[in-house]
Amino acid sequence: MKKQTFLYALIVLAFNCDNDKKEDITTSNYVEEAHSFAQPNISVIKHLDLNIDVNFDEKIIEGIATYTIENNDASEIVLDSKFIDIDRVEADGKDTPFSLGNFDEQLGQALKINIENDTKTISIYYKTTNKTEALQWLNAQQTADKTHPFLFTQGQAILTRTWIPIQDSPQIRITYNATVKVPSELMAVMSAENPKTKTNDGVYHFKMRQPISPYLIALAVGDIDYKAVSDRTGVYAEKSLIDKAHAEFSDMEKMVVAAENLYGNYDWDQFDVIVLPPSFPFGGMENPRLTFATPTVIAGDKSLTSLIAHELAHSWSGNLVTNATWNDFWLNEGFTVYFEIRIMEALYGKDRANMIALIGRQDLEEEVEGFKDEPNMTKLKLDLTNKNPDDGMNSIAYDKGYLFLRTLEEKVGREKFDAFLKSYFKTNAFSTVTTEDFIDYLNTNLLQPNAISFNVDEWIYQPGIPKNQAIIVSDKFENAERILHVFLDTKAVDVSQTKDWTTQEWVHFIRNFPETITNDDMKRIDDAFNLTHSTNSHIAMVWFEQAINHDYHGNSVDQNIEAFLIRVGRRWYVSTLYKAYKRNNKVDEALAIYKKARANYHSVTANTIDEMLDYKK
Ligand SMILES: [Zn+2]
Repeated sequence: MKKQTFLYALIVLAFNCDNDKKEDITTSNYVEEAHSFAQPNISVIKHLDLNIDVNFDEKIIEGIATYTIENNDASEIVLDSKFIDIDRVEADGKDTPFSLGNFDEQLGQALKINIENDTKTISIYYKTTNKTEALQWLNAQQTADKTHPFLFTQGQAILTRTWIPIQDSPQIRITYNATVKVPSELMAVMSAENPKTKTNDGVYHFKMRQPISPYLIALAVGDIDYKAVSDRTGVYAEKSLIDKAHAEFSDMEKMVVAAENLYGNYDWDQFDVIVLPPSFPFGGMENPRLTFATPTVIAGDKSLTSLIAHELAHSWSGNLVTNATWNDFWLNEGFTVYFEIRIMEALYGKDRANMIALIGRQDLEEEVEGFKDEPNMTKLKLDLTNKNPDDGMNSIAYDKGYLFLRTLEEKVGREKFDAFLKSYFKTNAFSTVTTEDFIDYLNTNLLQPNAISFNVDEWIYQPGIPKNQAIIVSDKFENAERILHVFLDTKAVDVSQTKDWTTQEWVHFIRNFPETITNDDMKRIDDAFNLTHSTNSHIAMVWFEQAINHDYHGNSVDQNIEAFLIRVGRRWYVSTLYKAYKRNNKVDEALAIYKKARANYHSVTANTIDEMLDYKK
C-alpha cells in the first residue's frame, strides 16, 4: 500500500531516533482528504466508548463520546463536528481546552482539542441540535404501526459528525462500544452486536469488535421485533411488517452462502436487516452486521431482493475493504454492483443477472448524457474537492464501475478474475484502499503475471465509456420489447405472456414506451396490468415517470403519484419523479407536491430535491 504524505515523512524522521515509538509510526499512514478536518497522521482515534441518551421529547441525543487515541507526540487532536453543541472536553479525565474552527457549509467545523504527548483518552460531553443532518426523528404517524415514534441515523458520506464528534474520514477505522438509553417501550439497535428482545429499562449495550469507518456507525430506535431467518441472519421490523419482511428476505442465508462461495468468509458474524419507515433515503445502507433497508423493497414476491444482495456484498467491498476517500467511491460501489450481480446469478441464474446489469447499463447511458456539460464527473476517480461527496453518488460509481469490472472479467476469464478478487479482499481486509492502490494491486497480481494489457487508465481517469466495453444482452428484454410493439401495432393485450415477468422485465417494458405513445395506449396498458396501483415500488416508480412524461392522467394516477411522493423518501425514487416534472416543464406541479412531502424526507433527500427544484425554504 502506498499512502505516504509529506507529513508522514516528517513524522518518520521525527521518530526514527525514538525506538519506543516505532510501532506507532506504521499506523501513521493516511492520505490527504478533502472532506475531513482530522489530521490522523498526528493523532488518531482508535476506539470509541459512546454513552448516550436518546430524548424523543426534545429530539436530541445527549451524552459522552470517549475515544482511545494514538498520539504521535502531538499537542492537539482534530475531530470533525457539525451542528453539535459541545459542553466540555476531558483529556485522561481532566478538563482540557478545545476550540471550534470556522464553519464550512459542507464540512462543519474542526474541533481542536488540547492534549499532552502521553494523553490516552479524550471525552467529549455533547448534545445534538435540531439541525443535525444524520438523524431523522419520525412521529408515530410516519411509522408502519403508527403507535410509537422512530429514530434512525444515516452516516454516509459525511453525516456521522452531525451526531457524534469524530474523525469522520473513511480512512479512519475504529472499534466501538456503546451504551444507549431509550424510552422503555422502544428497542435500540446499532451496526454492532445487537439485542433480539427489548430490555425492561430501555438501556442497551453494544459492541463492534471489528474496526469500521465512522460513516458505518449507525443507530435505529423504534418499537421493533426480531425474527431469525437462520442462526446468523434475520430481520428487525415493526410488528405489522415483521412477517412480510421475514418472508421477503427468506433467502438471506442462501445469499450469504453464495457470497462466501465467491469471495471468502463472511467476516462480521451476523447479517441482519432492519426494515425502516418509508422516509429512509436509500434503498439500503450497508451498516455492518445490520443493513438498514427501505420498506419499498418489500414487493411481496422477493422481486426486489437484489438490494439485499447488494448490501450483503458491501460486507466485502466497502466495509471490509473501504474506499480511502470519497473520490475513490467507485471502489465501494462498482465492486459491490459486480458482486451483487454475481450473487444474483448464483441464486437465480444468468438471465436474471443480465437483466439487472442491463438496467444499470441503461441508467449509465442516461447519467453520462446528463453530465455532458461536466464530463469530469463521468470519470471513475473523481475530484470532489469543495463539493459534497453525495455529488459522486450516482450511476458512474455504480454502473460504470460495474462495466469496467465486467469487461475486465471477460478479458481475463472468470476463473482468474474470481481468484484475483478473492485475494484482493483477503489481502486488504479491514483496511482502506485508494484507486491507485487498487491499480497497483491489479497490475501486480492479475495483469502482469498473465501478460494481459488492458486500458485501465482510460477506464478510471478518462470521462465517458471506453469502446472495449462488455456487451450485455438479454433475450428476456428483447421479448419484452417485442410484446410492447405487438401491443402498439395491434392494441391487443395478452396477459398470459407477461404473467411470469420479473420486475426487470416490467421496468424494461415501461421504459421502452415510444415518445409517440398515446394516452389511449397508456390507459389500455394501465387497465390491463393495473400499473397505477402496482404494489411493486420500482414498477410504480417507472410507470409514474412515464405518466408524467406523457401527460397521462387516467385511473387517478396523479393522486397516486402525490401519495407516493409524500409517503416514500427514497432519494432515487423521488428524485426520478421530480426530475421528470422538471424535464417536462411542470416545476409548479412538482413544487406543490414537494411542499407537502418535504417534512417527511431525510436531509439527504431534501437537500437533493431543494437543489433540483430551486426550493426556497
Ligand atoms: Zn452500495
